Amino acid sequence: MSNRTDLTQFEGHTEGPWQTNDCDSQGVWQEHDESIPRHIAMVHSDQDWEDMTEAEFMRMMADKQLVTAAPDLLDELKRCYEEIDRLLETIGSWGYAMCPRSNEWFEWDYGCQSEICASHDDDCRELVEASE
Ligand SMILES: [Zn+2]
Repeated sequence: MSNRTDLTQFEGHTEGPWQTNDCDSQGVWQEHDESIPRHIAMVHSDQDWEDMTEAEFMRMMADKQLVTAAPDLLDELKRCYEEIDRLLETIGSWGYAMCPRSNEWFEWDYGCQSEICASHDDDCRELVEASE
């Protein structure tokens, strides 16, 4: 699957869980054995703190929650990729493949029947083999 995010770019990141609080803190941090938490990130606003609209404040807090959740989201994405690979393997064992051009399933023995691919001359089975 070529549209996947390359997860190797995140190797070596600060171990989760990352933390924040529910109030107006702008920070995200990791608690660890030493007394001072390890600073991960800080969200900022384009508006002055005194003049900040509620919508801007809510946007900033949502960004902070998203950054805080990053290690868990990464773990979940890895799990989903593994599950997709297992499903693709199972479906492949039944004699089906997914056309990389149309994303439609086809029976390997009959070749791709997608209308999206009908105008192309090359066999979608070759594309599948090239992508493996
Ligand atoms: Zn096709």
